[in-house]
Formats: sequence, C-alpha cells, structure tokens
Amino acid sequence: MNGEPEVHEESEASERSEEFEARLKAYEGRPAAATGVGRDPVNEPMIRHWCEAMGDTSPAYTGPDAIAPPTMLQAWTMAGLSRSPERTAAYDELLRLLDESGYHAVVATDCEQEYLRPLRPGDEITFDSVIESVSDLKTTKLGAGHFVTTRTDVRAGGALAGTHRFRILKYAPARRPKKQAPGPPEERRPRPVVNRDNAGFWEGVARHALLIQRCTGCGDLRFPWLPGCNSCGSPEWDTVEASGDGTVYSYVVMHHPPFPAFEPPYAVGLIELAEGVRIVSNVVGVPYDKVRIGMPVRLDFRRYDEELVLPVFQGVAE
Ligand code: ZN
Repeated sequence: MNGEPEVHEESEASERSEEFEARLKAYEGRPAAATGVGRDPVNEPMIRHWCEAMGDTSPAYTGPDAIAPPTMLQAWTMAGLSRSPERTAAYDELLRLLDESGYHAVVATDCEQEYLRPLRPGDEITFDSVIESVSDLKTTKLGAGHFVTTRTDVRAGGALAGTHRFRILKYAPARRPKKQAPGPPEERRPRPVVNRDNAGFWEGVARHALLIQRCTGCGDLRFPWLPGCNSCGSPEWDTVEASGDGTVYSYVVMHHPPFPAFEPPYAVGLIELAEGVRIVSNVVGVPYDKVRIGMPVRLDFRRYDEELVLPVFQGVAE
C-alpha cells in the first residue's frame, strides 16, 4: 500500500481542524453577557463584611477616605442568588459548538484581575463582558480542548476601574488508562510549577543561587515568592541571595506512603535561613534519624535529572 491515501486523509483532517478553529475564533470580541448595572453602589457595609471575612484590617478600607479592597472588583458585579447573569446568544452558541464537537466537559481554570483606579463608596458600577479569546486546541492532562477567556470590564461612573478575566477549559475528557500490571515506575521527581510570580526564584536555582524576595517598600524579606508584601502591601520588590546558612526549625521523617522517585524514609525539614525566612526542603548528608531541631545546615544544590535542580540542605556535623 502506498502512502498517498493517508497523506490525503491527514490534510483533510487538518483542513477540518483549521476550519473549526476559524469558526471558534469568529466569536472573539463578541459580547458574552448583557451589559449590567451593579445591584448596589460601592458601599461601606459590603466593604466591612468583606474585610471581616478576609481578616483584612488595612486602614485603607475604613474612614472618610476609604476605598474598596481592589479584590472586591467582581463582588460589585454579582447578580445575587435570585438572578443569574444574562449570557448572550453568542456565548451560548460558542459553548454549544464546543459541546457538539466533543468538548463537552468544562472546568474553570483561573481568573485574573487588573485594577486601574480605586473604587470608593458611592461609585455606581456598570460592567460588560466579552469573549476575549478562544485558544487553539490544547492538550492537557484532563484531555484536549479549548480555553475560553471572557473579560469583564468594570466601570465606575462610566470610567474603566478594572478588568476581570475568567477562563474555562472546554475539553473532551481523556480516556483513563486501564489498570495495567505494574510497569516501571515513573522515576522522575515531580516538576515544580513555575509561573510569573516565582520564575525569578527558579532562575536563581538554575545558577545555584537561593534568592529571597525583599520588599522595597518596607524591607521585609519573604519566602515563598509572592506578588506582594504581606506587611505593607507593596508590589515592588528585589531579591537578596541567601548566605546558605540555616538551622532545622522543624522536620518530619517520611515513611509512608511511598512516592515514585522518593525513597523512604527521608527527612523533610523546615529550614530557617540565617536571613530569617523559612523554606521546606530535604535534609541530606545525615541519616534521617539524626536530624534534630536546631541542627545547623548548609545550602547545597542537587541535580536530580537533566532538567531538575533543587536546593537541599546538608546537615552540618556538630
Ligand atoms: Zn513591604
């Protein structure tokens, strides 16, 4: 049999998928929900309830010059229990198209907010929502599918105050592999999740530097990496390189359950660095049953495979 018919089928399939993706892309920019009006103007009682629920005692949210916590953005647009948001025909159509093409499962993946100006008690809220993007076909652990991002623009007195992006994955669930006889175990360690908030940390690790974030507003050091300062709220930061000295602040010895690529028993330490922040890591170089609280440790970097380097801590014999 020559290869021609297969090549032909392949190109037909890719034409079909291009055509389908073009149909999906045609929904980008179309409204996802009818323009809405906030049920209540921005108001002090809702701000107070929010702050109590969140345990947020920032003085910015009380008093005569109070602003609303920026993360309340979506709260001002919510329809309440008795009303549901009015989805547009375009959005319903897009979801139906995906359903009918086999991407009938759905999972919410993430939400992102941007804040352009503070909201204050008395602000009247309006909002509208568009289908911002429909991704190409993506392969995920759940199955192949398309990410659909809707963007809600929130306005106060007509001026854009912030945006709220909400992303779902419409996917065809991957078939679960049938239980097989135990084969070779996956010997590689799990990969760290690297995102824009912690990428700098992993870049440091790659060149054998353990970087601690430092708030340039108040000077507080923080670890693990976060987008903002827990002490003063500033999003501005730089880094300091850890000296590498530390002590075991606490630890556990892992016996069970076993995980691939980990050989129990082993010690997992909460290491207090000389700089004052703490990091969870492996304590190596000493038998697991010799690890003690207060034991001095020294930073080291261990290569686990061709792509994975992790900071570990060597027990220092006293
Ligand atoms: Zn700070």
